[in-house]
Amino acid sequence: MSAQFPGAAVPDRATVVQAEDLRQVYSIRRGLLRAPAQLQAVGGVSFAVRAGQTLAVVGESGCGKSTLARMVSLIETPTSGRLVLDGTDVTHATARERQQLRKTVQLVFQNPYGSLNPRKKISAALEDPLAINTRLSKAERAERARAMLAQVGLRPEYADRYPHMFSGGQRQRIAIARALMLSPKLVVADEPVSALDVSIQAQVLNLLADLQRDLGLAYLFISHDLAVVRHIAHDVLVMYLGHAVEQGPKHKIFAQPLHPYTQALLASTPGLVAAGGPRRERIVLKGELPSPLHPPPGCVFSTRCAYATERCRAERPLQRPVDERLVACHYAEDFLAPATGSAPLAASPTPVA
Ligand code: SF4
Repeated sequence: MSAQFPGAAVPDRATVVQAEDLRQVYSIRRGLLRAPAQLQAVGGVSFAVRAGQTLAVVGESGCGKSTLARMVSLIETPTSGRLVLDGTDVTHATARERQQLRKTVQLVFQNPYGSLNPRKKISAALEDPLAINTRLSKAERAERARAMLAQVGLRPEYADRYPHMFSGGQRQRIAIARALMLSPKLVVADEPVSALDVSIQAQVLNLLADLQRDLGLAYLFISHDLAVVRHIAHDVLVMYLGHAVEQGPKHKIFAQPLHPYTQALLASTPGLVAAGGPRRERIVLKGELPSPLHPPPGCVFSTRCAYATERCRAERPLQRPVDERLVACHYAEDFLAPATGSAPLAASPTPVA
């Protein structure tokens, strides 16, 4: 298992990023006479990713996955918790160390149209990070930019063109090239293919996989699309209302999701059941994600869970190991399929009230 979880293997030298109980709480002003409200965007998430591995973070809009991405990429400082990047504890790093660490982690954004300056040639977009962070000469920077274009499957002479001269897929390749100019160890990709046509998505995902294999990159891959996640992830972290509800190896979670929210996400994605594999009962998620300003007192998923009991509404389930992953559900074991191999969701439990 590539991503390590609490209670699992101790992070080793290949661990590029390790997060422990990472939290982000925002103060929301409510007028002059009322005290600010506390909005918990991320409520204690732990994970680790090793070189050459991909951890996919999935969940609906508003689940906290993009906030998590901003903390890991050093755009936001966590309210509490510990973040170790390439062996350095970011939480206690000096300004100079943080500056150095910014080269270790780079971002690829969702929108390839918005992430490139339309007035700058591609050469400038690629060379600027080198001009700011290295002492390479102009000729050396230009050489590196052309080599990087070739590495992402574009012609080196495209460096002299402007962003509007490229298709969406080509622009995302350029955005990936720019992210790699400083030789990062971790790439945080925030919905990197969701703005692309389906036919182009596969090409960009294959490019990311090739670059990971060739350069040993670690990816934190943020996505709401489980079909995409199945293609690229080694491990999966499912978030709901700022909390990790299930995390572990992709093959375990896709074969037999144990948290009812993961079950609903997988059941709502067409084509995820392999031919001959277990059929999944269709679980329709009802209602909206609750406001993070007023989270449910017990299990965060209790307002939408078909199996919720009084215990669920009163007592928050802690993450605990079940069948090679961590699950935050009081009844996770009840969702394990019997040894006969029958469909796990057909055997879903009737929770005890
Ligand atoms: Fe559903 Fe209860 Fe499990 Fe929460 S703890 S996911 S409400 S069964």
